[in-house]
Amino acid sequence: MSLEVLGWANGSLRIKGVLAPARVSRNNRLYLPEELKKMAEELDGGEVPVYWEHVSARNAVGKARIRWDDVNKVLRYEAEIFDEEAAEKIRSGVVKHVSLGADYEVIDLVDDIIVPRNLHLREISLVAVPGIPEANIEIMESIKLRAVERAVQLHETPTAPIDRPWDKQRAVESLRRWASVDGSGDKESIDWEKYRLGFAWYDEENPEEFGSYKLPHHEVIDGKLCVVWRGVAAAMAALFGARGGVNIPEKDVKDVYEHLAAHYRQFEKEPPSLDRLVELSRLMEPVKSFKLLEYVGLIDEAYAALKELFEESLDTGHAKNTLTTSVVGVGEMEEKKDEKVIVERLDPKPKTFGELCRQVGKRIAESVKLKAREAVTGTSDQPVTHAMPLFRIPAGAPLGLRAFGEVVALERGEKTATLPIINSITFSELTPGTEPTEATQTITFAEVTPTEYGAIQSFTYVDAERMTEDLGAVIARCFAEAAQLSSDDVILQELDSAAGATITPGGKSESELTADDKFTSDLILSALTRLRNENVAFAPGDLVLVLHPKQYEDLLKEDYVKTAMQFGTFDPQTGVIARLFGVDIFVSPRVKTGTGSGVTTYHAVLFKKKDAFIMAISRDLLIETFRDVKARKVYVAGSHCIAAKAKWDKAIVKIVTA
Ligand SMILES: [Zn+2]
Repeated sequence: MSLEVLGWANGSLRIKGVLAPARVSRNNRLYLPEELKKMAEELDGGEVPVYWEHVSARNAVGKARIRWDDVNKVLRYEAEIFDEEAAEKIRSGVVKHVSLGADYEVIDLVDDIIVPRNLHLREISLVAVPGIPEANIEIMESIKLRAVERAVQLHETPTAPIDRPWDKQRAVESLRRWASVDGSGDKESIDWEKYRLGFAWYDEENPEEFGSYKLPHHEVIDGKLCVVWRGVAAAMAALFGARGGVNIPEKDVKDVYEHLAAHYRQFEKEPPSLDRLVELSRLMEPVKSFKLLEYVGLIDEAYAALKELFEESLDTGHAKNTLTTSVVGVGEMEEKKDEKVIVERLDPKPKTFGELCRQVGKRIAESVKLKAREAVTGTSDQPVTHAMPLFRIPAGAPLGLRAFGEVVALERGEKTATLPIINSITFSELTPGTEPTEATQTITFAEVTPTEYGAIQSFTYVDAERMTEDLGAVIARCFAEAAQLSSDDVILQELDSAAGATITPGGKSESELTADDKFTSDLILSALTRLRNENVAFAPGDLVLVLHPKQYEDLLKEDYVKTAMQFGTFDPQTGVIARLFGVDIFVSPRVKTGTGSGVTTYHAVLFKKKDAFIMAISRDLLIETFRDVKARKVYVAGSHCIAAKAKWDKAIVKIVTA
């Protein structure tokens, strides 16, 4: 494709805009700033044709000049459209985008991202769908009417630590010194194009006034222009009217919002939704400021504002009530130690296990997806670790024995739980006039230290890029189930070692058991008798028996059970015994095993729900994702920290069979 020089026509439509910012385009091309700059310089102010959708030189609809904007790191163009039909389509808004047509000599492949090198711009085209969303058209004819570029272009600057306090005064002063030629910060010495990078909006009509620059959110730290998270959030809240708001034209709000939203993403935060912000902006003060500050993420400031407001009446119950109702359901609450106001989450807790997995899966998918820019520029040469909120496995999850114990949650940071264990009291007959004998009741304290269990799974960058919400949900489900199996294991281990009694066929010792000593229903009856003898009271549904699959099979083959099935006590169609002699039956290959006389033995356990063991949980399932940049891998790790402790050994009977 050659470069065709076209003459300037009179009366044609002039347009301008951004042709390409230095970033990844929709089709996964990363345009590096130095490459775009070189490409613009090569043209040396010359013109390129404008086409329809990159089609053929004969159909040129206009011509354009491009220039590199080094401040904003974007390639800009100005064009004249002399084709009337095309001009009309632009005017009427049918065509809103431009796209660049360039040749390149080399491409670098970084992960899945294509980095074209040695670019030669051949043409620009009017397109329906842009390759780069920012590539847009602005009609110059109406510049006077419709202000352009008031919102500062999207940009990424280094990030200050996320908890850096935001001091607007200090930040603005640092920007002035940085942008001034002599470092003085004086108005006469300011490079205004540089100065505006610290703000989200400026008044194009009066660019050389300090007062024309609004919504600062950057600060110069150690000579570097950094974006400050709390400044971004404060600007976002102000944009929608919090704390008096900011006076900028309504039509610029969306562009300013986009600018700030891009910074949210830089901090790996989900930007607040524009619709919701607009909604909140319509509220009356003082609720408006409070809700906006809370919604943009400045929760502590929201509460500070609120406390100030309610300070005098805070001591009365009525005020507290008001406070709570106005706060409930407003938004996510981050953990605050000194927070006195009760806040509930906006999203209702997911109802089902499947929903929960999907929700967590979405977050897994989001967090493992690689940010191309990060990978290419190598800004994250340290593995990034970020934890997602803990989530609990709901009771409706696949079978888990832990539901049958008493669950004790440890305080955060607590390593050991001290569990009081009290033995039962037995009543005896009292004789009138005689002092009753004191019942001996012992209280013991069991120290339990939860142990961490977990698993880790890795994906290559290529796989991670393909991660979808559904795949994430599958991973979440796998981890949740693995966590359950792990707690089943821990419980079975504890019940096995702490059982108050052991029952075997014929009362043999474990080492004497042979292949004939199979599991039978009689053994369940013996175990029940043992419990009764030990004064362990139970009703149908109070007891749980966990069998090894081999023991379960032997039970099913037993004549008694088969006969009972024929008479309809059990459902022969499913072949599942859910309850036998009032005992709930569970089957798990995790049942402990041992050795008999040349055979493997299986340790079934029968125990009373709630009384048999305590489950100490210092951390429920936590799923984390992190990257190893050097190994080009993304990891998903799931772990929990739990311990099981037998509470009442008499309520646990072990049945050992071959
Ligand atoms: Zn910014």
